[in-house]
Amino acid sequence: MVRGAVAGWELLEKQEYRGRLAPSPTGFLHLGHARTFWAAQERAQAAGGTLILRVEDLDGPRCRPEFVEAIREDLSWLGFRWQEGPDVGGPCGPYVQSQRVALYREAFERLRRTGHLFPCTCSRREIQSALSAPHAGDEEPLYPGTCRTRTGMGDVPPYRTSKVAWRFRVPEGEEVNFVDGVFGLQRFVAGRDFGDFAVWRGDGFPSYQLACVVDDAAMRVTEVVRGADLLLSTARQILLHRALGQVAPRFHHCPLVTDEAGVRLAKRHEAMSLRRLREQGRTPEEVREAWKAPARAPSD
Ligand code: GLU
Repeated sequence: MVRGAVAGWELLEKQEYRGRLAPSPTGFLHLGHARTFWAAQERAQAAGGTLILRVEDLDGPRCRPEFVEAIREDLSWLGFRWQEGPDVGGPCGPYVQSQRVALYREAFERLRRTGHLFPCTCSRREIQSALSAPHAGDEEPLYPGTCRTRTGMGDVPPYRTSKVAWRFRVPEGEEVNFVDGVFGLQRFVAGRDFGDFAVWRGDGFPSYQLACVVDDAAMRVTEVVRGADLLLSTARQILLHRALGQVAPRFHHCPLVTDEAGVRLAKRHEAMSLRRLREQGRTPEEVREAWKAPARAPSD
């Protein structure tokens, strides 16, 4: 028996490394994305593993097809190579979230059946905020619990109504902790650091949190490398993994790239977009040098 347990442990240790790049096509990629993605690629390469490109295009109004192509081009130009993705295929496809909605529905139904969700008719603004990953400054306010105890809406199928969102009922007061590869032990208290969060939006689409958790598991991602502003989302996602009976991946959150004023780079920092830098004649090597001194664009 002991031998069996050791063999199981060895198997886990030897599990193939699978990482992912998960850009949202809402604009051109900038130095901040590129640096975090580079860390993801380096970790996958160092482990002799697989890197997946997954296009997170569920934020309908903000995502545009031309940005999908731009992302692919800019990443290739900068020296990224992925082994699975929309352009190269792979065993866990499709690699575009808008083509995976059936999977999210299935997970949603499982969560609903097991009593983890409740319908919510609170403001559209709160619901809208669930469309995308909550980056710095976008964190939703703590949910006040308005709809937590309401009854009589349990039979509404989420994708046939335009008003009702569904929230995950967090275990009030429970500490969710994990050891991050960069920031070490992280501890968040459900109901204090984050509240009941949306998993399905009132317009019939899954939230970022649900889609991300379903895909990381379905694509057998073993480590998530992303920006430090998603540390709190990791706590939410660990709860979702648990509720769905999935093993959560490991997490490695990279420090954020900021501008001269200390503001996190966002798509509005056009001067730092890979596209612009490339048009200015910068080489991939120069751009990669730039994130060693992240407060400035390479032309400065
Ligand atoms: N599509 C999300 C974003 O661009 C990905 C977040 C994640 O890596 O989980 O912010």
